[in-house]
Amino acid sequence: MAQIFAKDPPLRASSEAGTSPELDGVRMLRPRRAAPSEAARVTRAEIDLAHVRHNLRELRACLDADAVAAARPAAQIWAVLKADGYGHGASAIATTLEQAGVDGLCVALLEEAIELRDAGVRSPVLVMGGYYGRYRDGLEALVEHDLTPVVYDPNQIERIASAVRYVRGDRRLGVHLEIDTGMGRLGVRETEVGAMLAAFKTHREVRLDALMTHMACAEDPDFAATHAQLAVFERVGARITSAAPSLGSARLVRHAANSAAALRLPAAQLDIIRPGIAIYGVHPAPAAPTGATRIPKLRPAMRVVSEVVALRALSVGERIGYGHTWRAERPSRIATIAMGYGDGLDRSLSNLGEVLVCGRRAPIVGTVSMDLTMIDVTDIPGVAVHDEVVILGRQRGRLGTDTITAEELARKTGRIPWECLTAISRRVPRFYRNA
Ligand SMILES: *Cc1c(COP(=O)(O)O)cnc(C)c1O
Repeated sequence: MAQIFAKDPPLRASSEAGTSPELDGVRMLRPRRAAPSEAARVTRAEIDLAHVRHNLRELRACLDADAVAAARPAAQIWAVLKADGYGHGASAIATTLEQAGVDGLCVALLEEAIELRDAGVRSPVLVMGGYYGRYRDGLEALVEHDLTPVVYDPNQIERIASAVRYVRGDRRLGVHLEIDTGMGRLGVRETEVGAMLAAFKTHREVRLDALMTHMACAEDPDFAATHAQLAVFERVGARITSAAPSLGSARLVRHAANSAAALRLPAAQLDIIRPGIAIYGVHPAPAAPTGATRIPKLRPAMRVVSEVVALRALSVGERIGYGHTWRAERPSRIATIAMGYGDGLDRSLSNLGEVLVCGRRAPIVGTVSMDLTMIDVTDIPGVAVHDEVVILGRQRGRLGTDTITAEELARKTGRIPWECLTAISRRVPRFYRNA
């Protein structure tokens, strides 16, 4: 481990176009959010940037295959990096994807977008949350950092126009207009299109570049709801597109697909796809049924590991943990690991979850605490203090090889894999593997 996860050189972002950041070859990066106790903390998340690149290539291959099958151009990929790159560290993922040729990046928040610009990212960055603050400085930051806002309200057009005048003089800022086709969250409804077009006509500082929508049921076994949303998108989009020349816009780009829609329904790919979870190596839905030409072979990018920090032998009848929720029914060997719900190990895994030690599964016993968790290693001979414990990902150990996937954690906790990844908290340092 020590030489694989060496602590230098630090991640350096590209400062000028054409210069290559220090991400070539076997370069190991500093944990991005090193705690003061960085050197001592045995609990960490290991992020494999080569797997992120692999997943991007796999997505590209799927888009190419679907495009050939339908005799149309392949969609672009704008990867979704909100919530700190689904817990993987947004700037490291962004830099990696940018070097690997991603077409654009998407985040939810203005501050997430600024973080990427501060890390040297030059790709288009779409701010999807649509909230830029109540005051002018948020909108000015949007313009100053050359970000692409998603808009869905005529007032936003007016306010962005005034920020553009203030910051840029007479240069226009491109925006993407979200249409609510059935998610019922953000986006203009069909009845509001007229007011929106009027706002674009009045405020020429703002240029409409693209139309987007978001799918509510792309993971469903059947595609009925997704087809219905696409039909609304088509109809409303046609109306706006016919008005585009009068707004001073060229051809409007269209995008609608998250990972599930992109991988399962080629008709949803349109001009751009917005994959999140697939970039991090998790399939958004069971592969079948699917209308796609090809199923990608994704590789999970995150592994979460800790260590055994204490061991004890219990006699029959002894109880452990908060609430004494577990009782030894046989002479037992219990190991304590240095990870708890404060790190993102879900408390609902108490007396339910499993971890890997020596390549074998050990059940979580007792109640998961904030910093520590107990596991039963009675059936795993020779477990010692400092042994590696895998909470998420693969372990090749002296007694075997096994994997705990985000899907498994999600099933056991009643969550979705998206939550399991974003739950890994900031006190778990991220280490990057880039081989
Ligand atoms: C989160 C998000 C995505 C990505 O979704 P995945 O299911 O992770 O691929 C795409 N578009 C929007 C608007 C989102 O909020």
